[in-house]
Amino acid sequence: MADERFSTVPLSLCNTMKQSLSIKIEGLVQGVGFRPFVWKLATSLSLAGCVQNNPDGVHIRLEGDTNRIKQFLDLLQTNPPPLAKIISIQTETAELQNMQDFQIQHSETAGDFSTHIMPDMSLCADCRSELLNPADRRYHYPFINCTNCGPRFSIIQNLPYDRAATSMSVFDMCAECAAEYNNPADRRYHAQPVACPACGPRIIPMLPDGTAIERPWRVVWQDALEQGRIVAIKGIGGFHLACNALDETAAHLLRTRKQRESKPFAIMTPDLDWVRSVCRLAAEEEKLLTSRERPIVILKVKNDFPALKYIAPGLDTLGIMIPYSPLHELLVAFTDTPLVMTSANYSSEPMIHTNQDALCKLQDLADVFLMHNRDIVNRCDDSVCISTNNHFFVTRPGRGIAPFSINCKNAQEAVAFGADLKNTFAVVHHDRVSISQYIGDLEHPGTQNILMTNVNRHLDFFKIKPQVVIHDLHPDYFSTRLATRFARDKNVPAIAVQHHHAHLAAGHAEYGLAGKAIGFALDGTGYGTDGTIWGGEIMVFDRQQFRRELHLKPVCLPGGDMAVKHPQRMLIAYLHQAGLFAAAKDFLAFSPDCDGILQMITLGVNCPLTSSTGRLFDAVSCLLGICNVQTYDGEAAMRLEAAASPHEIETLPYTINEKTIDCSLMFAHLLQHMQHEVPADVLAGRFHNMLADIIFDCAERLTKKHGSLPLVFAGGVFQNRLLVEKILTHKKAADHKLFFCSYPNDSGIALGQAFVGISNVKSDE
Ligand SMILES: [Zn+2]
Ligand SMILES: [Zn+2]
Ligand SMILES: [Zn+2]
Repeated sequence: MADERFSTVPLSLCNTMKQSLSIKIEGLVQGVGFRPFVWKLATSLSLAGCVQNNPDGVHIRLEGDTNRIKQFLDLLQTNPPPLAKIISIQTETAELQNMQDFQIQHSETAGDFSTHIMPDMSLCADCRSELLNPADRRYHYPFINCTNCGPRFSIIQNLPYDRAATSMSVFDMCAECAAEYNNPADRRYHAQPVACPACGPRIIPMLPDGTAIERPWRVVWQDALEQGRIVAIKGIGGFHLACNALDETAAHLLRTRKQRESKPFAIMTPDLDWVRSVCRLAAEEEKLLTSRERPIVILKVKNDFPALKYIAPGLDTLGIMIPYSPLHELLVAFTDTPLVMTSANYSSEPMIHTNQDALCKLQDLADVFLMHNRDIVNRCDDSVCISTNNHFFVTRPGRGIAPFSINCKNAQEAVAFGADLKNTFAVVHHDRVSISQYIGDLEHPGTQNILMTNVNRHLDFFKIKPQVVIHDLHPDYFSTRLATRFARDKNVPAIAVQHHHAHLAAGHAEYGLAGKAIGFALDGTGYGTDGTIWGGEIMVFDRQQFRRELHLKPVCLPGGDMAVKHPQRMLIAYLHQAGLFAAAKDFLAFSPDCDGILQMITLGVNCPLTSSTGRLFDAVSCLLGICNVQTYDGEAAMRLEAAASPHEIETLPYTINEKTIDCSLMFAHLLQHMQHEVPADVLAGRFHNMLADIIFDCAERLTKKHGSLPLVFAGGVFQNRLLVEKILTHKKAADHKLFFCSYPNDSGIALGQAFVGISNVKSDE
């Protein structure tokens, strides 16, 4: 990348003493303090000229000493503003105009919009020290920000990113703030959300009936926590419910009120010593935790504490984040205890983001409300990340990360609607695919509305008129219905993309791979081209097409969705398929309805077929006595991973017959070992080893057939850290090039759909 940028600097630069240069910079360069940075840099080098935001990037005109111009270009690249991301710099010699000084010019009005939206950014070090400095005029002000930090995406109503087009427009700047805003030498020059206690938003503590509490919010907050209360807090992208994470009773109360049986809560704390005392914190995880994006990082628990059983029941991991906004910085500073911070909603409903909704829907959940009067325009959940063996995985792209974009070569404008679970969507414009924030699970009508509102808003932001609409192959997905209706309304074609092809294409695109690859799409559920439910798919694919080379042997899904909730159904289906049910029945404590389920299977009533790896995990998790009922997506698999002994080296047998991978032998061995009282953690470890063996066995077979190709891994199963580790450290790993998609679950589907969709449109031409 760096070479490309430099190559555009004309050689003639080296031979003249005074030069005029016109420069175009593309990337994340608008709304990040780029123009004042350029102004400062040019002024410090005594260069004349001007800088301007334009729809295609930042344009700079420079005049002055050749060596200084070279210095300018060097510094521009080596030391840009913290939030800027330069994608390309193009330079061209221009005619000398003998300019006298350097000026920041206003944006051109024609086509005046930015092509990027910045995610919200965590509090910078400068603002943090002002926040905690009693002499500063913004001391303890929860909305302090500057060009290098603060809200962006969550307050944007329209582009270009300008205060008037944000929810800050209702606050008139005081004279002091305005002076900072207008001074190119100030850290707050054109920082759109600039504010202070005199002119900006403020915190309003309230009771559940909406009455304001006439006490300082700090005191209200401290008292509430001390008394074990649940507090609803309006943050950056939405509301959280919070309580003291060390208060067992409060954590239990929160879980009971949220009607959430076991889905884990996240914890917020700045105290890394506490984190280290409770969790394993590798250097790469600490880096991620303290990164500018400040995601929730899933860490391995090493020491129990009393409230943990209510915070992350049955798991060996805990989601931790450190404060990211000035408000959160103060919340933790005022209480000195780790906080439970969970999105404020009822079970699978979307996160609440307006004051009105909070009072209406959280009345029975929270005892106290910390409201504020800055509107959240775009709701955005906390991002969730995993880091293992120096690989980062984003399992929920939200605050700090989304929206984000990946470059593509394309002339079409398009929109991809994603999947039904963990939905995100993508828009294609200006040679890039922009991926939205996490929208949620579309089974909830409220979430479907949010998807449509956000799709339309993104199309408006970038002034896109989609020429093609892309969706999942599943005819009954809500996202498919919304997409086809949208396509009909706009009178443009709709393209269906197979779910696992989309998963793999996301990885292919992320790493900029060219040509064919071998893909391992190990996943929960996706509609296959044969109408069955896929999810254990090994494909040879590129961005246009795929060939299903190998897959797990299909098995019954007794009762469809019921089988997902009750892993015992999957176990019975697998045992029946392996001819082991009768033998296992005496040994395993099945529930009384097991004969009914067996009958469903033998008669084939309501028993769709599936090759899902997720369901295989469910069956094994149930067999080993680890999880009998799934209260949230992926619970049985997560618990199986948690239970597995990571150091186990033995494996389990399987067979591959032509195109199918058969795990019958594995079930026979598991039953045998269980009868000999081999512990569940050992067997769970062997199961993971077997999966890694299967992967490299398949890779070898396909390499023989197709030659050496990169291996791409995608699908929900790759959120399993132990499996990723097993693959990376496998004895055959060195024989291949491995690429793990950073967006392994269904929030990566839209990204893959977009690339498959536009590749196929192009090939039709
Ligand atoms: Zn700042
Ligand atoms: Zn002010
Ligand atoms: Zn999937």
